[in-house]
Amino acid sequence: MLAYRYLFIFSIAITIGSFLNVCIYRIPKGEDVVHTNSHCMNCGYKLAWYDLIPIFSWLFLRGRCRKCGEKISVQYPLIELANGLLWVILIYKNGLTVTGLCYCIAASSLLVLSVIDWRTFEIPMGCNIVIGIAGLVNLWFNRQDWLTYGIGFVCVSGLLLLILLLSRGRAMGGGDVKLMAAAGLLLGWQNVILAFACGCILGSVIHLVLMKIQGKERMLAFGPYLSMGIWFSMMWGQELIRWYIGQFIN
Ligand SMILES: [Zn+2]
Repeated sequence: MLAYRYLFIFSIAITIGSFLNVCIYRIPKGEDVVHTNSHCMNCGYKLAWYDLIPIFSWLFLRGRCRKCGEKISVQYPLIELANGLLWVILIYKNGLTVTGLCYCIAASSLLVLSVIDWRTFEIPMGCNIVIGIAGLVNLWFNRQDWLTYGIGFVCVSGLLLLILLLSRGRAMGGGDVKLMAAAGLLLGWQNVILAFACGCILGSVIHLVLMKIQGKERMLAFGPYLSMGIWFSMMWGQELIRWYIGQFIN
């Protein structure tokens, strides 16, 4: 039965993944993410329901439009698959609980903002709001102590805001500040600091490697790395902090 449960979660998550694709393409253009029908970017063919089955439609059509044969980006099935895996792993780790679901929703939002930030160097405000709301819902249902999460809201974001102001916006984007504020509400202060530290380490290592491979200077989009750090914290933050504190007690 357990396998069916995860299969069910995976199916829902890849369907939500389709919606995330819509968000990724339309939010930067300022288009409506809810009401416009999906269509081929090349010929305008309106996709039927059987063209919209996550992952499988793309595989069945071998990545081409049914009507005009134009290539459909592999990003569509990859985002769907990524969202499916993220949800299954987070539910496996946290159980089918309010916290588990809040983490899933936050992970989806992180996925969207990472791709958008990677391409446009902007983090959409809507994504940060979704993460902040997931944090508040989690707090509300679990009756956690508000102080831990209140401090989480300001501790990293306050530091980033200071860097932003001191560098006059060169070293840091406003979106990063808001992202870490929202993440603090979701994670609490210990875990949001952990998330930030992970994001910085991953960001500097991966960014340097990428620049080395591509052989050119590249502007750093911090959002994807912060997102990885937040995801790491959602998965292993509690254990890591418990282990760390244990070092001092024993
Ligand atoms: Zn087409």
